[in-house]
Parts: sequence; C-alpha cells; structure tokens
Amino acid sequence: AMYTKSDIMQMVEEEDVEFIRLQFTDIFGNMKNVAITSSQLEKALDNRCMFDGSSIEGFVGIEESDMYLHPDLDSFTIFPWRPQQGKVARIICDIYRPDGTPFEGDPRYILRRVVKEAEDMGYVFNVGPECEFFLFNTDDNGCPTTETTEKAGYFEMGPNDHGENARRDMVLTLEDMGFEIEASHHEASPGQHEIDFRYEPALHAADNIMTFKLAVKTIAKRHGMHATFMPKPKSGVSGSGMHINMSLRKDGRNIFADETDKFGLSQDAYYFIGGLMKHVYSMTAITNPLVNSYKRLVSGFEAPLHITWSVTNRSPLIRIPSSFGSGTRIELRSPDSAANPYLTIALCLAAGLDGIKNKITPPENIQKNIFHMTEEEKEQLHIKSLPTNLYDAVCAMEKDAFIREVLGEHISNVYIGSKKDEWNRYCRAVTEWEVDTYLDKF
Ligand code: GLU
Ligand code: MG
Ligand code: MG
Repeated sequence: AMYTKSDIMQMVEEEDVEFIRLQFTDIFGNMKNVAITSSQLEKALDNRCMFDGSSIEGFVGIEESDMYLHPDLDSFTIFPWRPQQGKVARIICDIYRPDGTPFEGDPRYILRRVVKEAEDMGYVFNVGPECEFFLFNTDDNGCPTTETTEKAGYFEMGPNDHGENARRDMVLTLEDMGFEIEASHHEASPGQHEIDFRYEPALHAADNIMTFKLAVKTIAKRHGMHATFMPKPKSGVSGSGMHINMSLRKDGRNIFADETDKFGLSQDAYYFIGGLMKHVYSMTAITNPLVNSYKRLVSGFEAPLHITWSVTNRSPLIRIPSSFGSGTRIELRSPDSAANPYLTIALCLAAGLDGIKNKITPPENIQKNIFHMTEEEKEQLHIKSLPTNLYDAVCAMEKDAFIREVLGEHISNVYIGSKKDEWNRYCRAVTEWEVDTYLDKF
C-alpha cells in the first residue's frame, strides 16, 4: 500500500480537508457515498463506519442490513471541484459484513477475487479503457436534453468543437486527481467526445472509470452542459463505447508480446483471445447492461456486432492495435460505459484466464469487413453475432455456469432478476417511434 492511516490523517490535516466521502459502487454500476467530517475519520479508518445495506438496490434484506465500509487507503484523493478551504476528499471502500467477511454483493470484491486468481498465476492484469460520452445542452430549467449546438465530427477542433473548454477543464481536473491523460478529442458524432487515460492494474482501472464519470459529469455541469454515458442517446449517429484494452504482465514482461509471430502475439495472447471469444456472448448482459445498449450494437457506426477478431480492421469485436513489444494489447470493443466496470473487467480477466488455462484456440482472424459479407459467407466462416437485445443477453447469462461462478450467486441472481424486470417494463412501454409510425396510418 502507498498510504498508511497516519498518512491519511496527516494529509487531511495539512490540506484542510473538512469532509471525507466514503464511496462504493452498487451492482448496477452506480456510485454511492456517505460523507463524514474529519472528526469521524479515525473511526472510519478503523473500519467502524456502518451503513444500511438494505437501502442499496440488490444488496441485502432489512433483517441483515448492517454493512461496514473498509476504506482502501490508496484511493484517497481530493475533489478539485469542491471548495478549496474546508476541502472534500474521497476514499473508495470495500464492503464487509458485521462478521468481518467480505460482502459477495460488492462488485469490487468480485474483481478482487479474479485479480487474486491472476496474481496466484503470477500475472498483473493491466487495463486501459477508452470512454466516449456526449455533451448535450440543458434546457431553461437546467434539465438535460439531447440537443447540441455543434456539428463537429471526429478530431475536429474549435470553434466548431463547442466542448473544447469543458474538455480542457476535465483533463486538467483529472490530472489534479492523479490521472495520466493520454489523449482527448472530439469523437465522430456532434457533441461526442473521448478522453483516454493510461492503463493501470485492473482494480485501479475500474476505480478510475468510476472517478472519471463523476469528474466528467461534474465539470460538464459547470460549463452548463450535461455529460451522458448513455450508450446510444441518438439514433442515426454513433453511440458511445467503452473499449477495454488489456494486457497481462509476468515478472514485469508483457506476456502477450512475441516478436517472432506474424501478428506480434504470443501463444498465451491467442489463448486469451480464445477465452474471450468463448465467453463474450454470455458476458454481454454485463458489458452492455441497458435496453439502450443494443441500439449501439448495430451496423454502420463502428460498433461491433459479430464475434470475430482482427489485427487492424475496426469492425470486429476484438482488435489487436498495431502496437508491438511491451505495448502489445487486446482491445475488446463491445463494452459501453453504462457497464459496471468492476464486473466487466472481472469477466474479461476470468474469460481470458480460462482461455490460457484450458488452451482455447481462437478461430481464424477475419481481415475482411464483415459488414460487406453476405449471410452465406458469414455462415461458412462460422461468424456468430452478439446478442441483439437485453433479453437474449440476460437469458444467455442465466444459462452460463462460468459467468455465474465468476460473479457469484448473489450478484448473478439479483442482476438477472432486475434486468428481466427492466426488459419487461420496456416491452410494455409505447414508444415515440411507434406513435410516429403508426398513429396516422392505422
Ligand atoms: N463510437 C464507436 C463505438 O460505439 C467507436 C469509435 C472508435 O473506434 O473510437 O464503439
Ligand atoms: Mg473512440
Ligand atoms: Mg478503441
């Protein structure tokens, strides 16, 4: 660990921190927190802060509601957007039961468990996400809309890029919070942006994704805009993905790299791809968690539909970016930012490790643009598709013993139940599209 209890006490004192937010993420990827003042810090650092677990969706029933927050000291950071006198800091927490055992409904615990398994095999799993999002106008009441004043596209700049000041502020804020920002740019759709930060070991990367979303939303609001990570806020233009770049290290070496291979990939990298491809269909309910997620996974917008891998081509699900040697990595392009990053990364790692342990050879890579292939061609090449809606995805998850084991029975059952309910509510809704299409005609 980087910080001790007394380091935290000292920083709080020296930095004039008045409030400390104890944070965690629920099963559905929502960040939660409780604020304490610095007078309660010592108690919190001794793992004695309690909360009502029955009030968090999917956690526990009221008869067993007491849960304990165990702060992860290394996650201490100050919110740069809060007052600079009497500052606000946060610490991300793990969740424990009163008997001192980790709570199996805590997504961070699920990721910790898979990370531990990788560590026992000698691996460090590094993850670099690419988060895309939209900046929309708010209306006169400050409510979010799906409108933007701009028409800018990929890599375009000011004055056409109306988000450049907000993005600059986001990047500087994230740097203040310890992020290493690698790039930021306007994305393909009007109002769409991307900010990329450096890869980190899995748990830190998942924490960073949660912090990133909070910072981006907070700074957007300051600029009078609404930031959304909704996967497909508008039809007819690109949606927002959260591509996950992954590599495994052993003894400081990137074990996906092999310069003698024609694609620069090691045997273990191929097995990792094989594992991902084997499990990705049933993982989709987690990586693409909303009814809306499946409206992004359609052709024509650089989002994947087919379970294939490729070296450079952008249409497949798994891509090997042209970065060799120690930068060798595997990019999974299906996840979107509505996904719970802890569960998503846990499943990616577990699937990849399964590939390595069981020597799962992936099918041939596909260099051709799949969107230009006929159905017969796809069938000949055994190209399968991702689920096309949340219901199919949830049913696949439900039947998959491997996924259920990685996530544990608690999270699996709660998640499947809740997502089926979400699907049912959606099916009963009469949408604007239906009214537009049918009201006059029939
Ligand atoms: N926005 C695209 C998606 O939905 C990805 C664009 C890109 O390759 O960066 O995944
Ligand atoms: Mg992008
Ligand atoms: Mg990408």
